[in-house]
Amino acid sequence: MTDLPIYPLTDEHKMLRDAARDFARKEIAPIAAEFDESGEFPNATVKKMGELGFMGIEVPEQYGGAGMDTLAYVLALEEICKVDASHGVIMSVNNSLYCHGILKFGTEEQKKKFITPIASGKAIGAYSLTEPQSGSDAGTMRSRAVRDGDSYVLNGRKSWVTSGPVADYLVVFMMTDPAKKQKGVTAFLVEGNTPGLIRGKKEPKLGIRASATSELIFEDCRIPAENRLGEEGEGFKIAMNVLDAGRIGIATQALGIAEAAYEAARQYAGQREAFGQPIGAFQGTGFKLADMKTRIEASRLLIYNAALAKEKSKKTGGRYSLEASMAKLFASETSMFVAHQAVQIHGGIGYSKELPIERYFRDAKITEIYEGTSEIQRLVISRSELGLR
Ligand SMILES: Cc1cc2nc3c(=O)[nH]c(=O)nc-3n(C[C@H](O)[C@H](O)[C@H](O)COP(=O)(O)OP(=O)(O)OC[C@H]3O[C@@H](n4cnc5c(N)ncnc54)[C@H](O)[C@@H]3O)c2cc1C
Repeated sequence: MTDLPIYPLTDEHKMLRDAARDFARKEIAPIAAEFDESGEFPNATVKKMGELGFMGIEVPEQYGGAGMDTLAYVLALEEICKVDASHGVIMSVNNSLYCHGILKFGTEEQKKKFITPIASGKAIGAYSLTEPQSGSDAGTMRSRAVRDGDSYVLNGRKSWVTSGPVADYLVVFMMTDPAKKQKGVTAFLVEGNTPGLIRGKKEPKLGIRASATSELIFEDCRIPAENRLGEEGEGFKIAMNVLDAGRIGIATQALGIAEAAYEAARQYAGQREAFGQPIGAFQGTGFKLADMKTRIEASRLLIYNAALAKEKSKKTGGRYSLEASMAKLFASETSMFVAHQAVQIHGGIGYSKELPIERYFRDAKITEIYEGTSEIQRLVISRSELGLR
């Protein structure tokens, strides 16, 4: 990774980045293909990532985190994703989709109880917004939470929950007042062993196969009223706020995959010969590499810019939706472009499971879909530019 002069890294940044790189190369690289093939959740390495402090990088130390900034989070996540995007999404969900929202909207008691086990790496978190019939249009969710004395009773079916089969704690969004549509959504903190919370079918997937994704079914699942995150009706706002942070994580995941695919393609282009010269010497290949490298560095700048905007928002309280959406849109489309070109540059061997290139290609696709599809990012960006709600 280039140490760009406009983003000088502190010694702490470099130490964390190097620790993540070292861990990813030594511990994740040897098992990534095997867990991709089996689709098993990589419990042991995820636990070690927690012990190394990678699961709550921006969480203050008093809640078990590393107390560092958003750039530190991005640098560490990038290193993990260069080696394996499945470990990357598990880390991203814990840090941003789970911890960030509770840190921003939770009470002191909620932060202590629900963040500490995740940030200190002892437990796994999940974020459950999507339902079978409502993805991009999340405000149309049907699951219901009804207040009953000192409890809420949760009913409904949630889908596509990353870490759903294994999560110890979850942030869950449900309707408390359907007549109010988006303004009737409320956020809740749910412990994974609560009766009435049933883990549904695990999704067989194209990529990020070692990250477990499932449905969750709530059948009269009773939780204490004190587990409500924010006020009734504030859930949609919380969900969207959290996605701003999440999108920086997914943009970083996309960057990591693209860097890995690019580096493999660059090396191969220098070694593989055809018609008496390295294939990289053909302009058709060299220009591909030029476009891949340029888009990767542009992605990095957008991501670092979004990270700095998020850091600023910690002081000002403002949003950074535009910066996060631009970073996610560009980095995810770059990831898909770069992985596609990397397979092409490798020819037949790029299509083989002998090399990780085909895995990068399969893993890159998800970055254009989850935490807001590319179309939804374009909607956020264009609405922001046009001053529309
Ligand atoms: C592997 C995986 C992990 C996931 N993890 C989580 C998770 O942890 N938590 C969670 O809550 N969700 C999660 N999701 C859900 C994910 O965020 C949604 O799949 C995504 O937001 C898209 O929703 P959808 O699948 O319902 O597609 P739809 O919303 O039905 O969209 C279908 C198509 O229509 C397009 N479209 C929709 N609306 C518009 C519009 N206004 N303008 C233009 N085009 C539009 C979309 O861009 C897309 O191309 C995950 C999904 C996957 C695949």
